[in-house]
Amino acid sequence: MEQKYDFVIKNAIIDSAENSMDIGITDGKISALGKFAFAKAVPTYNAMEQFVCTGFYESHIHLDKACILDRCTIEEGTLDEAVKETGKAKKDFTEEDVFSRASAVVEMAVKKGTMALRTFVETDPKTELRSFNAIKKVREHYAHVIDIEICAFAQEGLTQEKETHKLLKTALSNGADLVGGCPYKDENPDEHIEMIFDLAVEFDVNVDFHLDFDLDPNNSSIPKIVEETKKRDYQGRVSIGHVTKLAAMDVEQRTAMAHLLKEGDIALTVLPATDIFLNGRDHDPLIPRGMVNANELAGHGITTTISSNNILNAFTPYGDASLVRMANMYANVAQLSKDDSIREVYEMITKNAAKLLSKQTEIKIGAPADLVVLEAKSAVDAIRTIAQALAGFKNGKPTFRNDKAEIIL
Ligand SMILES: [Zn+2]
Repeated sequence: MEQKYDFVIKNAIIDSAENSMDIGITDGKISALGKFAFAKAVPTYNAMEQFVCTGFYESHIHLDKACILDRCTIEEGTLDEAVKETGKAKKDFTEEDVFSRASAVVEMAVKKGTMALRTFVETDPKTELRSFNAIKKVREHYAHVIDIEICAFAQEGLTQEKETHKLLKTALSNGADLVGGCPYKDENPDEHIEMIFDLAVEFDVNVDFHLDFDLDPNNSSIPKIVEETKKRDYQGRVSIGHVTKLAAMDVEQRTAMAHLLKEGDIALTVLPATDIFLNGRDHDPLIPRGMVNANELAGHGITTTISSNNILNAFTPYGDASLVRMANMYANVAQLSKDDSIREVYEMITKNAAKLLSKQTEIKIGAPADLVVLEAKSAVDAIRTIAQALAGFKNGKPTFRNDKAEIIL
């Protein structure tokens, strides 16, 4: 008997296969791969021999403070200024305001081929739970097109701000998926790290830290993070972002840190747009890149990802929520050229980031039909050319279409 299909994507090039194939979808799952017969009435999308993958995964973004450039003054372009300006603006955030800005970014991300994201949400006396409540609504509103993970986040310190601790707990009791800390903005970084870990253990959630955001190779928080991870058996449940001190260390120091991260099975996210924009302001000439080489760490067996971090605010006054653009920028700044290295970069916005979000990226029978068509012939080609995302499907349902640009002759 002929199998019943709800939808078929025709002529797709997928990662593991030589020749293009059709992808059959039944009840939101992939039900056939290859060349197979299906009824004429089944709706189809013709991928026209373009590359099809399971989309991109954003492991670190701030939806709550996106799109506020008109409320901030940028004179220095430093981290301190960005935190200060955003701190001032966020006192006036309302739920409606956060919902509308975050929704705009989510829509940008979906149209660029993003399938799931982890957003940090600041829960502190300045915003209380307004941003958190708004992002929960965003998560629900867009659940059919994207999966959103919410990280309750202490951006502006914890040990000197007890109210933040209470708000984090409330968020964790009311739908936050994990907890995040920012020790470099705390008077007592080590105690901050311990308190965030305590919350993670109490609520049995993963933990994600903004770490070491400067170019002084000394006093890294990595050893402390690894110590606490091991103490609490949290290997595989911890991720860290920025860690730009690593970019300032010599190869011996970097290798020692990589071994430590490996011991703790800690994932590392590079945020190229922000790291390059904020770091190195006191250098002239020869401004340092201030961005970690994630490929080097991947070579030590560490899970590495690349992510957008901020969109159109004082931390990053640019942004289109395109992970493939971010990956291309990273590869360019990291001076990569070989196919193998570019392939690793592709995995940083797909397989590796998906792992942090507990998603899988294999196109196989029985897997959810979460698929994105890219204007490229391969994964490496997609990164090199910043391939346009042409169409997306989540659980087999179409989520967006971008028509391929055509030359008019
Ligand atoms: Zn961040």
